[in-house]
Amino acid sequence: MLHRLEEQSPDALLALIKLHAADDRPDKVDLGVGVYRTGQGDTPVFGAIKAAEQSLVDEQESKSYLGPEGDIGFVNALMPYIFGEDATMGGRIAGMQTPGGTGAVRLALALAQKAGVQKLHMGVPSWPNHAQIINDIALEMVPFDHANPDGTANVEAALAAIRHAGPDEAILLHGCCHNPTGIDYSAEEWNAIGDAIAESGIFPIIDTAYHGLGNGLDEDVAGLRSVLAKVPEAFIAYSCDKNFGMYRDRVGAFYILADGGETLDKAFSNANALARASWSMPPDHGAAAVRLILRDGSLTQMWMDELDQMRERMRQVRATLADAGMAGSVDLTPLGTQNGLFSVLPVSKEQVAQLREDHGIYMAGSGRINVAGLTMNNIEKFIEAVAEVTG
Ligand code: PMP
Repeated sequence: MLHRLEEQSPDALLALIKLHAADDRPDKVDLGVGVYRTGQGDTPVFGAIKAAEQSLVDEQESKSYLGPEGDIGFVNALMPYIFGEDATMGGRIAGMQTPGGTGAVRLALALAQKAGVQKLHMGVPSWPNHAQIINDIALEMVPFDHANPDGTANVEAALAAIRHAGPDEAILLHGCCHNPTGIDYSAEEWNAIGDAIAESGIFPIIDTAYHGLGNGLDEDVAGLRSVLAKVPEAFIAYSCDKNFGMYRDRVGAFYILADGGETLDKAFSNANALARASWSMPPDHGAAAVRLILRDGSLTQMWMDELDQMRERMRQVRATLADAGMAGSVDLTPLGTQNGLFSVLPVSKEQVAQLREDHGIYMAGSGRINVAGLTMNNIEKFIEAVAEVTG
C-alpha cells in the first residue's frame, strides 16, 4: 500500500542546514535557519527561562494531564501583552495553549474551515508552512501581493482582496515582522485594513510569531489591536518560540475573538474538540516556564531586557546594512526600516547558489536572509559578497 505514496521534496531550509553543517570553511555564514543569534553567533537559552525552568524543577509537583486547552495560566498571562489593558476585550476573547505557533495556525485554519470558510486570502510570499497547512486541510488559497518591488507593503492589494471577498472567506495577516519580507503595514495601513475588514465581513486571522522582535512589545501589536477594535470576530495565532527563545519546546497560543459570550463558548468548544483530535494536549514545560516569568515581576523585567537586547542588535545590523546603500545591484537601504528576523534580497537562485558556493554564505533560495545571522565580524564580508555576485 505504501508504494502508492509520492515522494515529498525535503524541506528546503532543513536541507540548507545540512549543507551548511557539511561546509568546513571557518568563515561560513548561516543566514538560513530562522532563529535569533547573538553577536557571537549563538542562540542561547534566555536567562529568565533558565530561572523559571529551575523553579519548575524545584517546585512542580505533578505532570498529570491538564487538558486540550493546556496551561490556562500561561494563556491568560500573555493576554495583556497581546490585547492590552482590557485583556479580554470585555469578555469577548478566550484562548488555549497550542504546540507552537504552528499548532495555533493549524487550529485557526481548521476551525475557520469548520465554521464554513472555504477560501483564504493570503499575501505572498509568506511563511512556506502557511501554504502547506492550507493545502493539507484542502482550503482554497487566493494569493495577493504582499509587497511592492520597492520594498514597501502593497496595501492596495490587501484592501482589494478584502473588499472583493464574498461570504465564507477569510484573510490571513502577519501581525508583525512579516516572514519572509520584514515588510509590515504602517499604522495608517492597519487602520484602513481594519475598516475594510469590518465593512466587507471577511474573517480575519492574524498570525503573530515575532511579538517584540520588531519595534517593541506594544508597537508590534498596535496593528492587531486596531483591527480587533473594529471587527466582531477574529482568530489570533501566537508563538512564544521566538520572543522567549523556546523554539524546540513548542510554545504557542490560539485566541478567539467573538461578538458574544454564547458564540465564544461554542467556538471555544469546537477549538477544544479539534485540539483533542489533533494533539490531545500541548506540551507543558515551555508554557509553564513562560507563565512563571509573566507572574513574577523581576523575571518579567529580565525577559523584557533580554528581548530589548535582541531587538536592538537586529536594528543595529539593519542600520549597518541600510548605511551600505547599494551592494552591486541590490539596494540594502529598505532593510533599515523592515522589521524582525527576515528580509528578502532581490537576487536570483543562481546568485544565491554563487553566494553559497563562492563565499560560504547560506540563504534560502527565495533570497530570504535572517539578519540575526550577521555580526560585526561577518557583515562587511556579506555586503562585499553581495556586491561581487550581483555587480
Ligand atoms: N507563523 C510564522 C509567520 C512563522 O514565521 C512561524 C515560525 N517560523 C510560525 C508561525 C510558527 O512558529 P512556531 O515555531 O512557534 O511553530
